[in-house]
Amino acid sequence: MAFWEEKTLDQMTPAEWEALCDGCGRCCLIKLEDEDTGTLITSDVRCQLLDGDTCGCTDYPNRQKKVPDCIKLTPQNVVEIKWIPTTCAYRRLAEGKGLAWWHPLISGDPQTVVDVGVSVKGRTFLETDVDPDEWEEHAVDWPEWEPPEHL
Ligand code: SF4
Ligand code: SF4
Repeated sequence: MAFWEEKTLDQMTPAEWEALCDGCGRCCLIKLEDEDTGTLITSDVRCQLLDGDTCGCTDYPNRQKKVPDCIKLTPQNVVEIKWIPTTCAYRRLAEGKGLAWWHPLISGDPQTVVDVGVSVKGRTFLETDVDPDEWEEHAVDWPEWEPPEHL
């Protein structure tokens, strides 16, 4: 049995925990707040440290020093934070859904995350390249947030 099937998130080693990330980059997009409703909307603007092509953090060990609002996911907060995508491997496991077929640990290929539209690869703008006046135009709802299960 695979480790993610026999262990809870709390029981995983640091290496197992890190291996669960599908590398989609979705949690590293800037969130915008609707002034009227207070709702958080995910934008297509990426954190200054996110590589837009590999979707990896370019300074993972120092991320919280450089980006103070970078959230360190835990077995507890992954279900409490509303903007963590429903596709996120941690959220899925915490909610008892298991890993999706397109997760690299299941498919054996990181490209499947891109193929189903879950990865933000090549679809984002760098935070420091976006004019503050244009932020509103970058509020996207990522219509393909939840990929069809049959893909
Ligand atoms: S949303 Fe989840 S699976 Fe995707 S990059 Fe963030 S932590 Fe990893
Ligand atoms: S600092 Fe790194 S891990 Fe944190 S949001 Fe930015 S790119 Fe993502």
